[in-house]
Amino acid sequence: MTGQRQYDALEASELFCPTCRRAQPVRRHLLLVLPTGNKYEYRCAACGTPVGAKDDTDASEFNSILSGRRLK
Ligand SMILES: [Zn+2]
Repeated sequence: MTGQRQYDALEASELFCPTCRRAQPVRRHLLLVLPTGNKYEYRCAACGTPVGAKDDTDASEFNSILSGRRLK
């Protein structure tokens, strides 16, 4: 099972929000695009409180920006 990468398979869809005091759907915000991967922050979809963060090691977005192709 090595060498296979599954994109979006492990995305968090709900996280505990301390402001709402319950698990809430989250929105993913891209914070930084780096040559080594991207940094994301998860925020509560209801109140906007940051409830988690994630880094990945996917450099394809960075390379896309370098080559002039912008991803939204
Ligand atoms: Zn909340």
